[in-house]
Amino acid sequence: MVDTMRLIFLGPPGVGKGTQAEFVAKEFGIPKLSTGDLLRDSVQKKTTLGLKAKEFMDRGELVPDEVVIGLVREKLNSAECQNGFLLDGFPRTVPQADQLEILLNSKGDGLDRVLYFTLPKNEIVKRISGRRSCPQCKAVYHVQAIPPKKNGICDVCGADLIQRNDDKPETIESRLGVYHEQTAPLIEYYKAKNVLSELEGSGAVNDVQRRLLALLS
Ligand code: AMP
Repeated sequence: MVDTMRLIFLGPPGVGKGTQAEFVAKEFGIPKLSTGDLLRDSVQKKTTLGLKAKEFMDRGELVPDEVVIGLVREKLNSAECQNGFLLDGFPRTVPQADQLEILLNSKGDGLDRVLYFTLPKNEIVKRISGRRSCPQCKAVYHVQAIPPKKNGICDVCGADLIQRNDDKPETIESRLGVYHEQTAPLIEYYKAKNVLSELEGSGAVNDVQRRLLALLS
């Protein structure tokens, strides 16, 4: 447990950010904010925001900046985020990063570290296509690497696991294209601010965890 820790997990879809974010958030006692989870929640509840976001998400495209920034702003201003946070999947564009900086500056806060996860493309595709998600508690599995104890059932809450629409093979390529075009520029953006650390995302979950803790300690 540390006093404050403000982290961003950056990297392509399927690189393992979500799994590691879950672990780091528990380890350091900070809330994990996944914009993907927040958006999927809104879609599930069929809110106005969710209905708007769904078409973009199903196509593997990014939801418009102002929608996502609004969601994050609300969360970061809430009491639970005053002593730190881990952002998983945000920012994903330069305008989102600029808005985040403005928001943090206005509170006198700064980022401690941006962890940039890397993984070869063939590994990314394998991880995404084998991913299975719990629509209820958001736990994430992989058919080979992190299988649930009972096939197709969430270990945590017992719900039926699903394959996300955007994890289907036809959407993976377009998500990777969107990542390279719109999100990858953030690598240089945060390098220039001296807060970026690169993390090799290959290997078993435990191996990545060890590398991650070594970087953060
Ligand atoms: P993820 O769970 O992080 O892979 O996100 C799933 C989908 O939610 C993405 O493919 C986007 O459609 C949308 N999304 C999540 N985070 C963002 C963001 N920061 N900006 C725009 N769209 C996002």
